[in-house]
Amino acid sequence: MEIDSMVANSALIRAREGGGSKGRSWKWKEMLRFPHISQCMDLAMNIERDYYSLCVKQPIGKKLFELFCRSRPELQNYISLLDALVHFKLKNMIYSIFIVRNTEQLKAQEKHEQSCIQSLELNPFKDVFHDCREDLHKYLSGETFIQYQESMFFDRFLQWKSIERSPITKHAFRQYRLLGKGGFGEVWACQVRATGMMYACKKLEKTHVKKRKGEGMALNEKQILEGLDSRFVVNLAYAYETKHALCMVLTMMSGGDLKYHIHNIGSPGLDKERVRFYAAEVCCGLIHLHQKSILYRDLKPENILLDDNGHIRISDLGLAVRLTDGQLVRGRVGTVGYMAPEVIGHKHYGMSADWWGLGCLIYEMTAGQPPLRARGEHPKPSEMERRILTEQEEYGDKFSKQVKDLCSSLLNKDPAQRLGCRGSGGTEVQSHPFFEKVNFRMLEAGLVEPPFKPDPRLVYCSDVQDIEEFSSVKGVTLDQTDSNFYSQFITGSVPITWQNEMIETGCFRELNTFGPEGSRSPDLDW
Ligand code: ADP
Ligand code: MG
Ligand code: MG
Repeated sequence: MEIDSMVANSALIRAREGGGSKGRSWKWKEMLRFPHISQCMDLAMNIERDYYSLCVKQPIGKKLFELFCRSRPELQNYISLLDALVHFKLKNMIYSIFIVRNTEQLKAQEKHEQSCIQSLELNPFKDVFHDCREDLHKYLSGETFIQYQESMFFDRFLQWKSIERSPITKHAFRQYRLLGKGGFGEVWACQVRATGMMYACKKLEKTHVKKRKGEGMALNEKQILEGLDSRFVVNLAYAYETKHALCMVLTMMSGGDLKYHIHNIGSPGLDKERVRFYAAEVCCGLIHLHQKSILYRDLKPENILLDDNGHIRISDLGLAVRLTDGQLVRGRVGTVGYMAPEVIGHKHYGMSADWWGLGCLIYEMTAGQPPLRARGEHPKPSEMERRILTEQEEYGDKFSKQVKDLCSSLLNKDPAQRLGCRGSGGTEVQSHPFFEKVNFRMLEAGLVEPPFKPDPRLVYCSDVQDIEEFSSVKGVTLDQTDSNFYSQFITGSVPITWQNEMIETGCFRELNTFGPEGSRSPDLDW
């Protein structure tokens, strides 16, 4: 390894270790200073007064609503119950009886107790508290929500929102080493100065985007990402511009991609526990995307990234499309060797293409090579397509009966017959015997320990000088139409990701203080 690369790696590793409070700038409090409440009136007038968005979905909103409820003796039981219900969802709901008995104020508690116990007996993994939680939210979204909006806690929420909405420039970040190269530009490791949070910054060179008419694709990727909130898909945290590039700041995935893990470490392929774990997490990711009517279309080992704990996320949503009202799409889109027969065959298709992709992924993780391709072989695209349309893949002795059955059901050439496409969608895949031991509820909650943890002292990507330099484009000039497009792209912080960043790095806890004995602080005083 060359000296430049070693220096770049050790700087990144140090930043990663110090991530969080140690990585904050010494001026961090100044960067995150609350504006006086009188400066938040525009926001107060324009913000949508939706209970679900303000008090459930947005992490800081949820915290402040909770603090408000805790400050009112008559509301404490409700919020304790809500808290416990969320907790229970994660902890297999052991104390159900205890909690219902402790909330005397909850109407029809008997009914809830009975129905919880009944459905728990029927199906231990079901979300038995769903109805109970809905009732509670219905109650809280009434008078309580109105009172909350008149409290200092909501004023404080407006102050946080106002910081969240301040414009973002490159000065908000420190830049570390180059991580990889994409179609329109480079991806760099970066760190938010104010909070110490590490991210990956995907840059799209403006001239490249224009020359290759990539505007629609870039905006599509950004808009799809900002509408998602899944632990199995990379999150978008910020979208901003520099003079030369459009930038998407994404969840940092330090553990490398699955292509690297399948092919570059030891003998090709992964052990069965890892195959099962990654397949199960990708399956959850696909289900989340499909629930939002998003077809991913680019499933392959390269696009599945590991974080520092060993969980995976789906990345690179450049080819994803939103299917409105269950419509189908057409278009030979994807990567040669991973495209489903119906995609190659120029037919109309829907979510089936992704379940084929999952079949290819599980096959490759198990065999150490993709289906219908011999080791080291690089057939022409047309030959690859012919094989996918007409040939049957083979299963060597690395395949157990179960994994073979799963792969061949996913790699069914007829999309109508394929596993995952026969009515119940992804749940059918989750019910396959190969996943029998997987508790998908725990997995969804991030509570399953990954079978492999990346070494925190390693950098799982090519050396800096081995990543080809990004060529520059000449003869392209940028004009007003380009600026109009850029303004749609550069929307700054993405609320849920930004608020999670504040909470995870401890900035929320350290800054969200009030006056003595629960009085207003000066920034909230009129
Ligand atoms: P493109 O759409 O142009 O192919 P990608 O999104 O695939 O771009 O990113 C290019 C490369 O950058 C990836 O192959 C990977 O090495 C690296 N990369 C992308 N996103 C991340 C991330 N969130 N964390 C770490 N590395 C990333
Ligand atoms: Mg890519
Ligand atoms: Mg892409």
